[in-house]
Amino acid sequence: KKVIFSGMQPSGVITLGNYLGALKNWTNLQDEYNCLYCIVDMHAITVRQDPATLRKNARNLLMQYIAAGLDPEKNVIYYQSHVPAHAELAWILNCYTYMGELSRMTQFKEKSSKHAENINSGLFTYPTLMAADILLFQTDLVPVGVDQKQHLELARDIAARFNNLYSDTFKIPEPYISKVGAKIMSLQDPTKKMSKSDEDNNASISLIDDPDTIIRKFKRAVTDSDALVRFDQEAKPGISNLMTIYSAVTGMSMEAIQNEFEGKGYGDFKMRVGEAVVEELRPLHKRFEELSKDKAYIDGIIKKNAETANYLATKTLRKVQKKVGFPPVV
Ligand code: ATP
Ligand code: MG
Repeated sequence: KKVIFSGMQPSGVITLGNYLGALKNWTNLQDEYNCLYCIVDMHAITVRQDPATLRKNARNLLMQYIAAGLDPEKNVIYYQSHVPAHAELAWILNCYTYMGELSRMTQFKEKSSKHAENINSGLFTYPTLMAADILLFQTDLVPVGVDQKQHLELARDIAARFNNLYSDTFKIPEPYISKVGAKIMSLQDPTKKMSKSDEDNNASISLIDDPDTIIRKFKRAVTDSDALVRFDQEAKPGISNLMTIYSAVTGMSMEAIQNEFEGKGYGDFKMRVGEAVVEELRPLHKRFEELSKDKAYIDGIIKKNAETANYLATKTLRKVQKKVGFPPVV
């Protein structure tokens, strides 16, 4: 079986963007592939986090993975910080990555302008840690949203560079990006992507928002003033984003959506999108509530999966250490 690796930061609560761009697709892969889904808490601290909140978000994220349909028996779901090989390989890969490459990363530029008070070197080297995450498991495919495509390309470059310098060590991973929902935009500023770390609560739908909140956020979504439901990302980014969301949850084509709302106002349209999202998330909410009550079950998953991930990751790490010339442990 081919290997799939992906992750999410416990930097907030999963958004509809994370769900449609990544998590929803993951649930379709679990039978066909060997999948690892990491909760990348080490990535999350590249931006300042409150410790208690980080811990809570990480656990919620794990439960939301499962609530969304990832079977913890079939997928290796674990915390990045429980597997030291991530940090060890990241250090080595840092020594094979150029400052110039990292400087070109748009996520670094965006996050460093947003967190100007804390432009730390972890934020800068975030992509090498991400490369390590992926390369540790000899990953074939990486299902992510389009915003991570640039990082993935860098991971491929680093892997190829290392392989060329020594000998074949890493599998070169391919991106696996879904067509619908690959990039969901903010409900308040549809030129920016929806992000779970956004401070404006109205900008994103969180997977644990209750139905009323979801509807209210859609009603308040920023659109335009010409009252036409048409897909045009340049001229009508707000409406286009709502259409993308509606299409992703209903499976309808843009044309069918256009026809459904021909002659109707934005009010009706927003309401329908809200309702469709509520329906999509309903089973997930229910499962999440159940899982929240079962501490022992979740603890068991955390422990068992960390052991599996550690075992797999150490195999690649030892190979790499040997190739670069580190003395074997005697
Ligand atoms: P942060 O703001 O802390 O960076 P985030 O919302 O960007 O949080 P990540 O943990 O960085 O979430 O990314 C998790 C996954 O979700 C990645 O695969 C990423 O490509 C995907 N993703 C993030 N935002 C969106 C979006 N707006 N639309 C589609 N996919 C997204
Ligand atoms: Mg992100």
